[in-house]
Amino acid sequence: MDKAKRKAIIAGNWKMNKTPKEATTLLNAITPLVADADCEVIACVPYVDLAAAIEATAGTNVKIGAENCHWAESGAFTGEISTGMLKEVGVEYVVLGHSERRQYFGETDETVNKRTKAALAAGLKPIVCVGELLWERECNITEEVIARQIKLDLWDVTEEELKNVVIAYEPVWAIGTGKTATADQAEEVCAFIRAQLAKLYNQDAADAVTIQYGGSMNDGNADELLSKIDVDGGLIGGASLVAEKFAAIVKAASK
Ligand code: PEP
Repeated sequence: MDKAKRKAIIAGNWKMNKTPKEATTLLNAITPLVADADCEVIACVPYVDLAAAIEATAGTNVKIGAENCHWAESGAFTGEISTGMLKEVGVEYVVLGHSERRQYFGETDETVNKRTKAALAAGLKPIVCVGELLWERECNITEEVIARQIKLDLWDVTEEELKNVVIAYEPVWAIGTGKTATADQAEEVCAFIRAQLAKLYNQDAADAVTIQYGGSMNDGNADELLSKIDVDGGLIGGASLVAEKFAAIVKAASK
């Protein structure tokens, strides 16, 4: 499938930044700058910011996402948030399996899969993050790591459900480090992910999936990364907290 036919998506991952008031201020700065974007624009924000973010973006082209969700609908899961809670406040996307969740909060491919299935069942669109550690790349097992994550994270996800899944390739060594994968490295792994999806589903289904790159993407390198045939957008951490930088990346994806 022609890249131009896939949905380009630029999503901000705010991580643990911005209070609700600060979220409103930032979104009020972002929305006019991206009003004519020719791609999907999303801000994934902390749970307590969701209501303010949804209010601040009402009537605009900016969609709001959460940064995680639990697989159970309710119950004894102190500190967790269910898909139903997210749906009710108007959330559309949810980041799952981010490397910081895997690294600091014991997230595994099994729990990423459970969250992904629950999100899809609730009508949320998961942004499923995969990526290798630096030493895994140095040991030449990037493809093995990615293949395993894709297979396990999407276990039992149907071809129909796959239409609502976004994959974010985020090499762990490039996240928040200022070290960006080269455009060729990003393309190589994004193309590999698409090939894995073709094996697990079929070529048409794989060709339709939006695959983002994430890892120190910014207003200076976005053009080159996004020009690659299998890089359909970006998951942006640090640069998503500065309206002008985020808007410049959205502009690059809109070309
Ligand atoms: C991220 O948090 O998903 C990310 C890619 O962060 P950064 O852009 O800061 O590397």
